[in-house]
Order: sequence, then structure tokens, then C-alpha cells
Amino acid sequence: MSLEQSSITKILNQQRQFFATGKTKNIEFRIEQLKKLKKAVSNYQEKIAAAVKADLNRPKFEAYFELTFFTEINDAIKKLKSWAKPRRVSTPIEQFPAGAKIYPEPLGIVLIIGAWNYPFQLVISPLLGAIAAGNCGIIKPSEIAVNTSEVVADLITKTFDSNYIAAITGGVEISQQLLAEKFDYIFFTGGTKVGKIVMEAAAKNLTPVTLELGGKSPCIVDDNIQLEYTAKRITWGKFINAGQTCVAPDYLLVNKSVKSDLLEKIKQFIKEFYGENPADSPDYCRIINEKQFNRLNDFLQEGKIIIGGEINSKERYISPTIVDGINWDSAIMQSEIFGPILPVLEYENLDEAIAQINSRPQPLSLYFFSLNKQKQEQILRETSSGNVCINDTVVQFAVPSLPFGGVGNSGIGSYHGKASFDTFSHYKSVLKRGLWLDLNIRYAPYKNKVGLIKKIIFR
Ligand code: NAD
Repeated sequence: MSLEQSSITKILNQQRQFFATGKTKNIEFRIEQLKKLKKAVSNYQEKIAAAVKADLNRPKFEAYFELTFFTEINDAIKKLKSWAKPRRVSTPIEQFPAGAKIYPEPLGIVLIIGAWNYPFQLVISPLLGAIAAGNCGIIKPSEIAVNTSEVVADLITKTFDSNYIAAITGGVEISQQLLAEKFDYIFFTGGTKVGKIVMEAAAKNLTPVTLELGGKSPCIVDDNIQLEYTAKRITWGKFINAGQTCVAPDYLLVNKSVKSDLLEKIKQFIKEFYGENPADSPDYCRIINEKQFNRLNDFLQEGKIIIGGEINSKERYISPTIVDGINWDSAIMQSEIFGPILPVLEYENLDEAIAQINSRPQPLSLYFFSLNKQKQEQILRETSSGNVCINDTVVQFAVPSLPFGGVGNSGIGSYHGKASFDTFSHYKSVLKRGLWLDLNIRYAPYKNKVGLIKKIIFR
């Protein structure tokens, strides 16, 4: 549904009333809702596949990338009782007699705003965390993936009462109307620029946020590699969804001595994956819209195209492209590419590559291909990024036990698996004091007690 401000306020008020009944605090209720979500997602497979085909010409195989979180629903159903249990923690001796516990509690009404590149996953995956943690909420899928946005709204409307979980579709204006309301948590996926707008709006109500943003994720390739798999895994991670993946390798930073062999192999794999003419491949996506197509097309004006570079504006097609002859000052190196263009930079020693990366905003993901364990450790020790994957690309996103998120410009907070439950929970600290003993130390008069407090503090 696309709504007026007053209707948004009305849904929010109804959700507040529903939340106040305490129903969502019940673990059985949450499990029931997760089961409903699981069933609905499973039933909507074909609709999701058709929608991402219509939005991005996504092949059916890649449509299932929208559902990589599915096992997390099962996991949440299985583990929710233990996650939601108050956890006993130790208390210092001077507090005796006492018991301390941490109670995970729902935050209240949450807002989830998604991006267009994995338009189903980016709203439904956080939603599962919000439900598991006992919240009510509103989700707003990206208007740019128009077909998937409708499917998300349909699924949510048919599965949940809007007093509990609602989907609101619409563009920037609706987003702004939502942000004008007071939520108890905002979970946003999108670009850094809009992330700042969201955080500013949230600050007005002191609403905490998770910001899942983007950035330029480097792919560093050492001279000591398994060439075949390195090339294959880079080609896959860069060109799935036609490069419109937040964790796609943005650019290659390759040791000079392996550069030509690596590029040769990548060329080979592009052909193996997508054929002589990727425009004819049933497995190759299109750019989401004209604006993005034009933005990407501008990047092709600089450097030397060594493979690809073919475009068809009517179809919003850009072939898998590798651009050499690029330097750090080139236009393509100034912002996230988010498309099927892979610029190549080279380095001679790893320290130099690390220094370049460290002089730029912290990336969402960092990829390092090397068989050398010491260099792997050096990368981990000397660089900062949301996440790292050694000797592969993108797949770290699909490990539920690894919290996923950025750092610095690439985001705030994380989710996936138990981290999603944590994100949407408030951990309430509770101390229960016993009454059968009451030491006089803390009470005035303090005469002769300074020594004692010093002993406790500096013990
Ligand atoms: P975007 O920031 O343009 O839009 C995201 C959402 O914000 C949309 O729902 C949109 O309606 C809303 N929005 C846009 N402008 C707004 C405004 N002025 N005020 C309020 N709301 C507004 O991002 P996008 O183009 O949809 O997605 C691409 C970006 O998202 C890339 O930078 C990519 O790296 C990032 N991304 C990050 C992740 C992640 O998990 N970290 C995942 C996917 C995409």
C-alpha cells in the first residue's frame, strides 16, 4: 500500500496499541509468526523469481540469492527460546547478596527500509530478526525494483495483520514521511548519502539505527595464488546480478607480476559463464534503470577496455567489462561502481596496496587472494573493513554465524543469524538485591571508611 501521512500515523498508532498488549513478548507467538513467514516465503518463490526477472532480468538460479536467509528462519525457530532467555551474569563481591541477569527485550515498533539490488532479501531478512526479537514493524521495500516491491507488499499484507507487521510501498517521499514518525529502531539498507539522511532523521527522536551501506570493496590479488579458482571466483562475484551487489569486488588491486595471467583467465571465465555474446546469455542480468545505466556508461569513457564494454541502452545492457589503464584519480575510482565494470589497478608490494586502501573510507568488504598465510594475517591486522573474505568473493554474506555489516562509511551495526536477534533487542540489565544482609560501608557518616572504599576500588 502507498499511503498518506495520516494513514502512516494511523498504522503506527495501531501497532503501538498492539505492541502494548504484550502479545509479541510471548515466545510461542513469535515462533508462530516465524513459521508463517517461512511458509509465505516458500509459497512466493515463483512470484519472487518472476519479479526479479522483471526488475533485473535475473536468471532463476540467481533469483534464489534473494532467499539465502531462509535457513536463518529455521534456525531462529529452533533457537529462539534459548536466545530470548534471561542470561545470568556474575556480580562483584561487594554487591552480595545479589543476582544479576540480562533480559533481551523487544524494542517496539521498527522501520525497515530496503535497497533495490536484492529487493526481497534486504527487507525480509531483517524482518525475520525483528519478529524473532518480538517487535512490530513497518517495512518499505525499494520503489526502484517496482515488481519485487509489489510482491513484498502482497506477501506481507496476506501474511500479517497490519497492526503487527505492515509493508508500505512508495518512493523517497514515502520514505521521508516514514522517517518523520517516531520509531523505536530504524534498519536501513542503501547508499551512504541516504544513510546520512536517515541517521539525521533518526537523531531527532534519538532512535537507534542500523545502517547497511555500500562503498568500494577492494579485491587484492597477491602473486602467490591458485590462479584458476582466483579468476573464477572473482568473475562470479563481480558479474552476478550484473555487478549490482553491495559486496561485489568493486575493483582489482593486483600484484603486477600476475596481472596479465589473471586478466587472461578472467576473460576466459567470462566467456565460459556467459558465452561469446553475454547479451544472449539467459544467465546475465540487466541494469535496474536508465539512471543507473547512464551513470555506469559514463565510467566507460575512461581507461582501456580490455574485455566487454558493449552496451545496449534500450535493454540497459552492459557486458561484463574489464578496464585497464586506470589510476586512483580516475572517475571510476571516486565512487562505488555497483555495475558490471571491473577496473584494474596494480601494485608491487603489499604494504603499498594496504596504504592505498587505508587512505580511503573503510570498505564494506575486502577480498584478498593469496596462499601466503603471513600475508593473509597482515591484511587482517593492517586493514579495516566491515568484513573480509580470503580466497573467495561475496560468499561471506551467506554465513549466518558471521554478523554482516559495515564500519565507518560502509555502515553501522550488523545482522544475520543471532546478530539479527541482537540488533532488534534491547538487552535490559537487571540486578536483584537480597535483603538479609546490608553492609554499612556505603552509608554516611563516611568517617574512617575511605581506606575501605580504596581497597574495594583498587583491589
Ligand atoms: P538508496 O540509498 O538510494 O535507497 C535506499 C532506500 O532509501 C530506498 O528505499 C529509497 O526509497 C530510500 N531513499 C532514497 N532517497 C531517500 C531520501 N532522500 N530520503 C529518505 N529515503 C530515501 O540506495 P539504493 O540505490 O537503493 O541502493 C544502492 C546502495 O545500497 C549501494 O550503495 C549499495 O552498496 C547499498 N547496499 C548495501 C547493502 C548492505 O547490505 N550493506 C545491500 C544492498 C545495497
